[in-house]
Amino acid sequence: MPAPTGVLTDLDRVLLDADSIRNRVSELARQLETDYEGKVITVVVLMDGALFFVADLLRQINLPMRIVTLGASSYHGGTESTGEVKLNWPSGVEFTGLDVLLLDDILDTGLTLSALRDRLLFEQPASLKTGVLLDKKRPREHDVPLDYCGFEIGDEFVVGYGMDYQGRFRNLPCIGILKL
Ligand code: 5GP
Ligand code: MG
Ligand code: MG
Repeated sequence: MPAPTGVLTDLDRVLLDADSIRNRVSELARQLETDYEGKVITVVVLMDGALFFVADLLRQINLPMRIVTLGASSYHGGTESTGEVKLNWPSGVEFTGLDVLLLDDILDTGLTLSALRDRLLFEQPASLKTGVLLDKKRPREHDVPLDYCGFEIGDEFVVGYGMDYQGRFRNLPCIGILKL
C-alpha cells in the first residue's frame, strides 16, 4: 500500500477504505430499493456528518423521494457527547402519513437519533425507519431501533467520509482513527 500523503498523514489508521464503503453503500441502496418499492420515500438527513453517505446512497436508489436535511448537534466540537441535542426543525415540511427514512452517519450514544425519532413520531408518519452508516458497539444510553446499518465498529472516535473532528477531516475518502 502506498504511504499516506496530505491530510491522510493525520490518521493513525484506516478503519474502512473507500472501496469497502462504496461496496457496502451500494448494497444498502439495493436493499432500500427492494424495501421501498412502490413508495415515495421522505428521507430525513442529519447534516453535516451524513453528507457523503447520503449523497452516495440516494443517487443509487431509483425510486421517487423527497430529501429533507436538518441539523442536530450533541457534540459541539469535542469527541464526547454533551448529553443534550439541539434540533433545527424544518418549518413547513409535512411528515404526517408519509414513509419517512431517517439517515445519519453514526450511532453512538443514541441520543441524537432517539430525540429525532421521537420528534418525527409525533408527526405521525405512515412509517419511520432509521439507517446509519456506522453503528458504534458500546452500551447504548438511548435505545434506537436500527433498520439499516452499513458497518459495526468498535468504541473509537472516527473521522472521514463526512465525519469531522473540530470541523476538519470530513473530506477524507476513507474512515479512520486520528493520531492522538
Ligand atoms: P449520539 O447522539 O448517538 O451519541 O451521537 C451521534 C452524533 O455524534 C453523530 O451524528 C455524529 O455526528 C457524532 N459522533 C458520534 N460518534 C462519532 C465519531 O466517532 N466521530 C465523529 N466524527 N462524530 C461522531
Ligand atoms: Mg451527525
Ligand atoms: Mg461532528
